Amino acid sequence: MTEEYLRIGDYELEVGRLLERLASAGASRVLLQLPEGLKRYYPAVADYIGARTGVEVRLDAGPVYGSCLAAHERPGGYDLVVHVGHDPYPLYAPRGAKVVYLDLEYVGVDPEEFSGRVEEYLRVAGTRRVAIVTTNQHKRLSGFLRERLETGGFGVAFGPAVVFGCYVPPELATAGAEAVVVVAGGLFHAIGVGMLVGRTLVVRADPYTRTVGDASREVSRFVAVRLRRMLDALSARSWGIIVGTAGQYRPSVVERLVRVLRERGHRYYLYDAPLLDVEVLRNADSPEVEAYVVTSCPRVAVDDLSEFEKPVLTPSEALVVLERGSVDEYPRGFL
Ligand code: SF4
Repeated sequence: MTEEYLRIGDYELEVGRLLERLASAGASRVLLQLPEGLKRYYPAVADYIGARTGVEVRLDAGPVYGSCLAAHERPGGYDLVVHVGHDPYPLYAPRGAKVVYLDLEYVGVDPEEFSGRVEEYLRVAGTRRVAIVTTNQHKRLSGFLRERLETGGFGVAFGPAVVFGCYVPPELATAGAEAVVVVAGGLFHAIGVGMLVGRTLVVRADPYTRTVGDASREVSRFVAVRLRRMLDALSARSWGIIVGTAGQYRPSVVERLVRVLRERGHRYYLYDAPLLDVEVLRNADSPEVEAYVVTSCPRVAVDDLSEFEKPVLTPSEALVVLERGSVDEYPRGFL
């Protein structure tokens, strides 16, 4: 495989594999998907691909929040979809999909200095056995961090492994780490990991701000809000089930919810929503529905709709409410 990178802003885009794949596929038209926040680099990437290969490049202007929305089945006659900046979504991979996933590494941070900060934080916190998780943009940095920690006498029980906002590898929970280091920008992934691993210390290490800190307080705040919303939903007898598209279309989850709702004798309505936000839900809402469950992206329920006027739950939260009829602790899963 040819190692070749295109520098865009503070990122390196892995293009060597793309050039090989375009040649072997005999592609003449591709759809390019860049993540949110990086779409301004579309012209630079399209110009590069066009100049190197002569391939026609179309640009996906729609939201690409994750690889769950990789355009596996988009009309347009594309020979290939080029999805940048996310690893393949672990819960959805249609057979024969013509998608090539390209890594996008953030290189605007000094790995030595950043890793030193993380090591110092862990030393002061008194943790010696850690796990490292990250996102697509920091895989090389996280590999560097692992080496640095091991050289410094730490045990790395797991990782680096890529996590998603709604998914962590199940091995993380049993790795026996005293702390999970989440190498990612902002709090989004640290919150998700913290909600799924329970009482383990979650250390957020942000390469963009070069800050390191304990995310446990934020995680606890999110869990408290979610427990309140689950309690609010206990009395609901009429539910709206939000159904998504692509990797966010999960019929087995929908079927399980429908089965439980029928067994309880509750009413339910299925809403198709390729994209969901507060405006979409408010527009579709009606007095007949008392609670919603989001089977598309569960983080929309957690991050964007926690304060909606009616409870909006993840599937795991809704199943606790419906199957147990009580709320004792937060479920360790979003699905
Ligand atoms: S958190 Fe939402 S956007 Fe991210 S991978 Fe999961 S379903 Fe997709």
